[in-house]
Amino acid sequence: MIDWSRSQQLLERARRVLPAGVASNVRAAERPFPLFFTQAEGAILTDVDGNPYIDYVLGQGPLLLGHSHPAVLAAVEQAMRRGQLFAGQHELEIEVAETLVRLIPCAGMCRFGMSGSELVQAAMRLARAVTGRRRILRFEGHYHGWFDNVLLSVAPPPEQAGPRECPRLVPGSAGQTPGVQEDALVLPWNDLTLAERLFAERGREIAAVLTEPMMCNTGAIPPTPGFLEGLRRLCDQYGVLLIMDEVITGFRLGLSGAQGRFGVTPDLAVFAKAMGGGFAVAALVGRRDYMERFARDVNHSGTFNGNVVSMAAAAAALAELERDNGAVYRHIEALGTMLMDGIRALAHRRDLPVLVQGFPAAFHVAFTELSAIREYRDYALHCDKERYGRFKVALLQRGVRVLDRGIWYLSAAHTQEQIEQTLDAVDAALAEVQT
Ligand code: PLP
Repeated sequence: MIDWSRSQQLLERARRVLPAGVASNVRAAERPFPLFFTQAEGAILTDVDGNPYIDYVLGQGPLLLGHSHPAVLAAVEQAMRRGQLFAGQHELEIEVAETLVRLIPCAGMCRFGMSGSELVQAAMRLARAVTGRRRILRFEGHYHGWFDNVLLSVAPPPEQAGPRECPRLVPGSAGQTPGVQEDALVLPWNDLTLAERLFAERGREIAAVLTEPMMCNTGAIPPTPGFLEGLRRLCDQYGVLLIMDEVITGFRLGLSGAQGRFGVTPDLAVFAKAMGGGFAVAALVGRRDYMERFARDVNHSGTFNGNVVSMAAAAAALAELERDNGAVYRHIEALGTMLMDGIRALAHRRDLPVLVQGFPAAFHVAFTELSAIREYRDYALHCDKERYGRFKVALLQRGVRVLDRGIWYLSAAHTQEQIEQTLDAVDAALAEVQT
């Protein structure tokens, strides 16, 4: 039996001074309980009891290059010795911005910040300034940060969510101001007919459509063919801005983001996690004429925006991602495909209803009879989350760490041997949850 006693002791100590013992609410829900770690390198994470795990959590996505990537660490170390915060400009900001503008289809200019949550706010403010309208259309099951005006219908209990064709906005936290609901509209994702109907009724009230281009906060749900194109067309028709929240997909699905991969260019996009190689950095990018409003009448500020450490990390991470014509992506594609196919085959052999869906860099494993998950309600109503929870703990006990919500991330640091070890663990864990 695995020993988690030191983690348990630390959690008790932490709970006296940190609510739920954690710094981010998401972590409190970790099964069997929030673990404590001491070290992370490559694809291996080690906890305070000395247990190593093959890591498919990867810091909730950012560690596309793996933990403690030497080139990123070297760049940060070197840069930070010359100063960390100038409250002024430095050349690395331009370098990173030039790279983003070169790689990302919608990027005419960019602004830096420290987190995805913040820059989603900047994107929404900019969209409202450009259009003079206030409503933001968003989709059930998408997460855009923890702020009042976006923590709506992220994981609504089905009995509170209203009819599918006309969902109710469900707040995600106590203490949210009710006023934010007047600025939002919500629909199920991947249903263009419902979007068309809403635009026909209220299109001229909408400032922006805010969407993850692949839904990664409820499973890993690719857009159905034509859906993003349809949103683009509706936005053009009604003078609405299309904002892609690429906080997870950015650089994970490819060098040009999900927008490059799916061939639909938004007006604005938010990038974060994978662009920083494990350090805190985020970017809002978009059409030059819109972004130039930040030089005139739209405020966006932040003490740590564009700081030396974040910029050095981003410059180094982006250089690694661009190396050898995208070798990182080929590696992840090959190993991720092997892992996805392997899980499918093992489940099939045991006659278990397991769906593996998404892309090798970010895919979802669910216990469900469905042949595809297309929107939040498929996940909420038709996936056995209790069984997945037991499966997740069984994996953890065998040295494989995955997220409770079913998404698996891969990194450039994973090896074929680790994938094989993972599949052995999956087989044993599936046996444990067979009933
Ligand atoms: N948008 C998406 C799609 C996310 O997945 C997240 C975080 O997971 C955010 C925004 C918020 O980013 P951050 O946690 O950096 O504030």
